[in-house]
Amino acid sequence: MSTFLTILGFNSAIPTVNSSPTAQFLEMEERAFLIDCGEGTQVQLRKAKARFSKINHIFISHLHGDHCFGLPGLIASFRLLGRETPLHIYAPKGIKEMLETIFRITETHKGFELIYHELESKKSVKIFEDNRLEVFTIPLNHRIYCNGYLFREKPKERHLNMQEISKYPEIETCDYHNLKLGKDFVLSDGYLLKNEVLTTEPTKSVSYAFCSDTRYLETILPIIENVDVLYHEATFLHELKEMADYTGHTTALEAARIARKANVGKLILGHFSNRYHDLNVFTDEAREVFANTFLPKALEAVKIG
Ligand SMILES: [Zn+2]
Repeated sequence: MSTFLTILGFNSAIPTVNSSPTAQFLEMEERAFLIDCGEGTQVQLRKAKARFSKINHIFISHLHGDHCFGLPGLIASFRLLGRETPLHIYAPKGIKEMLETIFRITETHKGFELIYHELESKKSVKIFEDNRLEVFTIPLNHRIYCNGYLFREKPKERHLNMQEISKYPEIETCDYHNLKLGKDFVLSDGYLLKNEVLTTEPTKSVSYAFCSDTRYLETILPIIENVDVLYHEATFLHELKEMADYTGHTTALEAARIARKANVGKLILGHFSNRYHDLNVFTDEAREVFANTFLPKALEAVKIG
């Protein structure tokens, strides 16, 4: 299954007629994840024709409103649409109190289970795993506690080379599983058939790193190293570096430095300050350091890997 990223919103702070605050819809290995949920996210999901009833896991980077104010409305809509499936929410500690307070005061009855995974660790931790993929936190440095998230497919099975395998009648269908796992095969006369003769390389596993609000931070490099796509905030151009530090944000130049040092495949910038009208200035600055830098295309599903 292919991996698709749909960026639903990428501006900072205030929603405008043409742009929405941070939210992304990630489809990986047939799972649907929502990453951040700024105001208006459910409308953006509809515009993108995203199958949002499939969302069972929501990852919130931090509790600033432009990253989570869409959550109570989305959850209320899930209820109105008759949702029964439990919903997992991964977010900084405080999310439960925030949401439950809103639901209590507004008498919103959920009708399905909300499972909170409140995060406090300042180290990268694995917060989700199933048979096909895993998700890790990327601790960031913002004004309040904040995490990015790394989504990574697990290594895939090797492909069978049936042309070679058919030369050895001793190899039966029940042996295929071990071959796909990379094991050699020993014939009855003791002859060892190397796995690489019987199989070919597996399809490459895909990875995506989402780095939300943060100051320039090199401690994230080992976590995001070699990812296929990195989304990194770039609120300001480098001429406002002091402002970026003061407000807990990154410049386009710095985001590009992170991308280059981490050897990522592609960099997508976002979270632009509303003071900029022509966003091409961000890619112009970043491409001086990391050529494979792009602006986000809102509501367009982009294939990763
Ligand atoms: Zn913030």
